[in-house]
Amino acid sequence: MTKQKNKAQEKSTKEYVCKACRMRYPTKTMKDACEAWCNEHHSCNMDIIKDAIGKG
Ligand SMILES: [Zn+2]
Repeated sequence: MTKQKNKAQEKSTKEYVCKACRMRYPTKTMKDACEAWCNEHHSCNMDIIKDAIGKG
């Protein structure tokens, strides 16, 4: 099966990293939510990090 991959699709697989806890997310929205939480509470929100790709 040949599937053409274009640059736009590759861009959508970009990861977003929370600057506070270094957790990685598939979308900027999730990353922003985590970052906002981390900066305010200095701890992780399980509801947010369950959507994380990983840490590092
Ligand atoms: Zn975070």
